[in-house]
Amino acid sequence: LSPVPSDIEISRRQTPKAVDVLAKEIGLLADEIEIYGKTKAKVRLSLLERLKDQKDGKYVLVAGITPTPLGEGKSTVTIGLVQALTAHLNVNSFACLRQPSQGPTFGVKGGAAGGGYAQVIPMEEFNLHLTGDIHAITAANNLLAAAIDTRILHESTQTDKALYNRLVPLVNGVREFSEIQLSRLKKLGINKTDPSTLTEEEVRKFARLNIDPSTITWQRVLDTNDRFLRKITIGQGSTEKEYSRQAQFDIAVASEIMAVLALTDSLADMKERLGRMVVASDKDGQPVTAEDLGVTGALTVLMKDAIKPNLMQTLEGTPVFVHAGPFANIAHGNSSVLADKVALKLVGEEGFVTAGVPLKKEYTEENIQLVADGCCNLQKQIQIAQLFGVPVVVALNVFKTDTRAEIDLVCELAKRAGAFDAVPCYHWSIGGKGSVDLARAVREAANKRSRFQFLYDVQLPIVEKIRTIAQAVYGAKDIELSPEAQSKIDRYTQQGFGNLPICMAKTHLSLSHEPDKKGVPRDFILPISDVRASIGAGFIYPLVGTVRLVSLPASLLPPEQVKGGRVGTILIIW
Ligand code: ADP
Repeated sequence: LSPVPSDIEISRRQTPKAVDVLAKEIGLLADEIEIYGKTKAKVRLSLLERLKDQKDGKYVLVAGITPTPLGEGKSTVTIGLVQALTAHLNVNSFACLRQPSQGPTFGVKGGAAGGGYAQVIPMEEFNLHLTGDIHAITAANNLLAAAIDTRILHESTQTDKALYNRLVPLVNGVREFSEIQLSRLKKLGINKTDPSTLTEEEVRKFARLNIDPSTITWQRVLDTNDRFLRKITIGQGSTEKEYSRQAQFDIAVASEIMAVLALTDSLADMKERLGRMVVASDKDGQPVTAEDLGVTGALTVLMKDAIKPNLMQTLEGTPVFVHAGPFANIAHGNSSVLADKVALKLVGEEGFVTAGVPLKKEYTEENIQLVADGCCNLQKQIQIAQLFGVPVVVALNVFKTDTRAEIDLVCELAKRAGAFDAVPCYHWSIGGKGSVDLARAVREAANKRSRFQFLYDVQLPIVEKIRTIAQAVYGAKDIELSPEAQSKIDRYTQQGFGNLPICMAKTHLSLSHEPDKKGVPRDFILPISDVRASIGAGFIYPLVGTVRLVSLPASLLPPEQVKGGRVGTILIIW
């Protein structure tokens, strides 16, 4: 329709097919899905075992360039592309998207189901509750938070023996260690399995974690932008008064458990990652983990359904996985590895999986010079993607005010920068058929041999890995570490975490650390203000300049920070 109706009107006018029909169409067996309502289902991981000999399809990563105030359009391009591939070119394809957080959904950013005639439907189901994964994360996160403070309280008020008796349960009248406790004993160098043989010293060592409250990094979470909970004092009840301390609520998707969910590839792996999560240090400076607190099993059981990818559909009835959505300010911001893996099997060798990730007046009237100037950023982003050895297709997400001359110029400059192809697309205004040219270009690029490579060797020292990203990707001259950052790097290295990959926590509004430096900033020194770690999820995240770690109500943010764009979206294929 013209003019294009609002996103919600378009979403509501289309009747989705029943999810069991969709599941059957894409080759799922009846016992491989768990249906939630009429339009959503979870897919069981047993499918990976059934299809283990099936060759994977091709993987297309959709990323954005530095956003303009009109946003980016990564989700919309991703959905337009799969609609074109599946519904118009008859190529099996799957979109893998992040589940949005309720905070931004009710803020200025709005939902993340795409837009125009390229959307996941039903929009409300996609944007809110979905199948409860974020609620499960909230429950698991807060269980761990409660376990930390309760443990500190008990250790301060009870004798070694009383604590020990509380921790080691009586089974048929005899004290027995659980598996988790046996592994903790081993870590402490106590190689005993019979509780009755522990010496007094061993009982003390076992029963006390000696958490240093000032080092607790694990926060409580909820999925609402509630600014009054950003800094709180906990422990105001009469029995906890002595242990009251300053704490905070983060947005649920910033929980390390969300990052674990996005990175894990099996239930067993998830359990291990959850157990490894570091929540504080003890009084000797050693890391204290979820496993030390004895809650790994409880966290895993709370997350046992969340680990299964959620199946939904696009406006044109093609399949979509919506699974995980780690907060991009402190984590990698991608949908889940498991959804990717399952989709790569389901589409078959010839099929495609596409995954979207983050990266006034002068915008509505033709301005060739402005567009030409802005294209340096697009050209730099193409070169960045090429560092990974994969072909790059530029999707130009056309807005109705873009002119032919502007579109031709962007495509020309993109190709000059080395893009395999650059294609204007119109999925937002006319659906999948508006992205058929893009789908053809992507199909052709995917048939080229990719020489995918990582940017750095994870065994390099942490500082070298950060410097490589700063220079090769952002174009910085060098990095500058604050004393805080340096001491954290030293600590993590000494604790044996030096070989983890790096996830930079940096503004997406510039290639540099300064949001107002557009285009291709040069000769800047990238300041690393702090370095933090998600040991369980498995990465180190340096904070670049000033980065916000907790979500602010969207109404407080400038519009270009909350609205997703425009000039180009880069499709990387391998
Ligand atoms: P991102 O995934 O990068 O955050 P989205 O795909 O969610 O961005 O798009 C952000 C908003 O911009 C959505 O509301 C969408 O409807 C709108 N949008 C995207 N592409 C276009 C377009 N070509 N014309 C008009 N609006 C668009």
